[in-house]
Order: sequence, then C-alpha cells, then structure tokens
Amino acid sequence: MDPSFALETLLTHADLDPEELGIAPPIHQSVNYSAASMEEFDALNDQPRPERYYRRYGNPTQARLERVMAAIEGAESALATASGMGATTTTLLTLLSAGDHVVAQESMYGGTLSLLRDTLPRFDIAATLIDQSDTAAFEKAITARTKLIMIETPSNPLLRLTDIAAVAALARTHNILTFADNTVATPVNQRPLEQGVDLVMHSVTKAVSGHADVQAGVVCGRDELIERIWQAHIQVGSVISPFDAWLALRGLRTMSLRVERQNQCAQAVAEYLALHPAVRVVNYPGLADHPQHDLAKRQMRGYGSLLSFELRGGQKAAERLIPFLRIPVRSPSLGGTRSTLVRPAAMWSNELTAQQLAEAGVPGGLIRFAVGLEHERDLIADLDRGLATLAPAIGR
Ligand SMILES: *Cc1c(COP(=O)(O)O)cnc(C)c1O
Repeated sequence: MDPSFALETLLTHADLDPEELGIAPPIHQSVNYSAASMEEFDALNDQPRPERYYRRYGNPTQARLERVMAAIEGAESALATASGMGATTTTLLTLLSAGDHVVAQESMYGGTLSLLRDTLPRFDIAATLIDQSDTAAFEKAITARTKLIMIETPSNPLLRLTDIAAVAALARTHNILTFADNTVATPVNQRPLEQGVDLVMHSVTKAVSGHADVQAGVVCGRDELIERIWQAHIQVGSVISPFDAWLALRGLRTMSLRVERQNQCAQAVAEYLALHPAVRVVNYPGLADHPQHDLAKRQMRGYGSLLSFELRGGQKAAERLIPFLRIPVRSPSLGGTRSTLVRPAAMWSNELTAQQLAEAGVPGGLIRFAVGLEHERDLIADLDRGLATLAPAIGR
C-alpha cells in the first residue's frame, strides 16, 4: 500500500490482498493450522511472526488489523492485543528489566498508573511521575537508569498536553526510548511517530473500533521493536480473538468520519460550557484559553472527543447535575457512538486513594464528558436543562 495515501484511503485499503475477491475480510477462527509434513510445519514457526501456526502467535484477521494500524500511525509494524492494557503491559515488560527506571506523567490512564506505581516496583522497576506540561521536568527526572519515557497526551481526565516533539528529542539525546498512549487523541488528530516517538499504543476499545462493542489494543513502531514486543506477547498471552480483530477492522474503516464529527461536536459543547455562568472551568485543548492551546495547534490536527469541566458549585453541584442529564450515559470509556460522562473522583475511588487523586490534580467535582455521535444541538440542550436546575430554586 502506498504510504503517501491519505489516512482515509489507508483506513479502507491498507490491509487489502489484491488476490482477494471478497470486499469484506474473512474471519479466520482457527486456533491451529496444518502443513503437508512436520518439516513444513516447523518452517511455519521459523517465520518472524507466523500468521498461520498457532493462535497465540498470530492470525490472518489480526494481521489485517495490524497492517491498517501500522499504516495510519506511519509505523513499520504493529502488534494487536486483547486490550489496551495488554499492549501497555507487554510493551513495558519487553523494554524494562530489574533496576531500570521510567519517567511518566502524574496524569495518565488509571490502569497505566497502577502498573507503574504498584506492579512494576515489585520487579525493581521504578517510576518517577511528573507534570507533563513542564517539559523541563522530564529532563530533571532522568537518571542513569532511565530506559523509557511514557507519555499520554492529551491526558485523561484533565486534558493536559505533553510537548511530544520536545520530549522525544530530549529522550533521544539521552538514548532513552519513548512510548506514547495515543488513545485520547486518535491517529486522526495526532501522530506521535511523526514527531519522533519510538512506540505508540492505542486502546482500540475506544475511538479506533468506535462502537463500544470490542476490547482490543495495539502497539505500533519499528519492526525491530515490535518483533521484541511480540516475543514477550507470546508469553504474556494478551491475544486478541479473531472476531474482535474483525470487529475492530469493521469499526475503524469509519474512524476519520467519526472522529472529525466528534471534534466538531466536542468543540461546540466546550464553547457552550465555557460561556455558562454555572461553569467554573472547561478543560478542552480546542479552546483558545486552554493554557496549552498553541501547543495543541502545533501537534494536533483536531482536538478530540474528550473534555472535562468543573461547576462553580463543586462536587455537590456535579452530583446534582449528573442525574438530570438524559443523553450522556453514566459510564466510563470514550470514543463510542453514545456520549458518556463520569465524575472521575467517584469512579476511581477504589483504585486511587484520595491523596493520589489530589496528587493527580483531579478535583472531586470534575466531570469528564466524552462526546459520541449525537448532534451537538441535543447535547447542549440537555446540558442547558440540567445546568438550569442548579440555579437557586426560588419559590419552590
Ligand atoms: C481505555 C484506555 C486504556 C486501556 O485500554 P483497555 O482497552 O481498556 O485495556 C489506556 N489508555 C487510555 C487513555 C484509555 O482510555
């Protein structure tokens, strides 16, 4: 496939086999494959990443998903996994050994934070978590043992940005690999490999598959790195099912249409909220007064589906507003067809202590809103009706 094709063309064509007559790809559900002789079977396993050997090693439907993801991220190859956390965990287990150190962000996906904070230290792998909006803090945190910098931008739920090109350049001068979680931005809006990052992962569960009906992940990068991650992957066993790979492929064909629509819709919702007197702050990189709006313009093509906001009435007002809303479902996740909304402090009360939440800068009243594919007019009307109930109830 011609890598100079636009993202839309790659999404619909990058996995095509010219011999194939079917317009939609088949689902290869078989766990193992046969060969004419034992020698031939053994030769299957001598290929770098066999697609027709044993399920855990690879699969033709999975390979098609990987071809499309590599193409749209501008990577040499990709490895699809059973979840985003499968991709992250397998990648970190590949790249890090006892005694190594990671620099990462205070504000990152909760599962990634627990992995860095609770699990990896048991294997003598330490992490320093810093404020991602301060590029100098990355450099300050580097030690002689630092092997990896992990970033996530925009971060969830505060929508803070990391200067991707600056951090990647800094890492390169120290011979450190960089790994970016690009889930929130999506490849439509941001391509970290073009900005010098070594590896990019996605929770395919979110906007890539786009319909909240499949759990999957992917990591993309140079052949040599993905080959090493695959070696760990066949031990970790975070294997995507062929049907889930097929669902992800089916969903991602329309990713640019969905994401561009969500960019527009989230911008409209953010602008509406920013002007509402009951709203104290709106976090959305597309707003001109976002503290890193200039950086957003430089490294993103669009600003994504995710925003968060705080009400003047704090947590109490948030708790009152949320049950009034009719359209967004009270659910985590993002990038699907339906808008979702959560109060992160309530959702993470089991995983993170109150102190960790405060350290991550997540106020009790913060509401995270991920727009779906509804019309912005209806989402705004719904919010407007809910916010009106927060005004002092005179005479009632
Ligand atoms: C959901 C998510 C993950 C984890 O992905 P799973 O598919 O749920 O394992 C990682 N990073 C971000 C930013 C996410 O939103």
